[in-house]
Amino acid sequence: MTNDDDLKKSALNVRKRAYAPYSNFQVGAAIRTENGHIYTGCNVENASFGLTVCAERNALASAIAAGENKFIELMVASNSGVPPCGACRQVIWELCGNIPVRLLDESGNESQTTSRDLLPGAFDKTMLTK
Ligand code: ZN
Repeated sequence: MTNDDDLKKSALNVRKRAYAPYSNFQVGAAIRTENGHIYTGCNVENASFGLTVCAERNALASAIAAGENKFIELMVASNSGVPPCGACRQVIWELCGNIPVRLLDESGNESQTTSRDLLPGAFDKTMLTK
């Protein structure tokens, strides 16, 4: 199994653990760190809809909690290969900078973009200086 297969398999496997009883839209995300580790997350919905957390942010939170802070690529698996939502784009930009974002659908078709292309004109911490 190649490293590439690892990232795909991780995203597809964690997608199966999604808690999505309201939308029935399961998403899995896998983030690869500079040192080769992979962290995963799935979407976790809530009856109080605003509390729902996306797969991408859960994967990044898991990696950050493990002490990781250098990310090189993100894989997002869903039924139709959708890109991250706006909130996740902002968080991906903050934590990862410009990295490849790979989108995988149920049939195994993959498309690729970047976090910069997903969030042009991004607001970030460099803008907080006076
Ligand atoms: Zn999101």
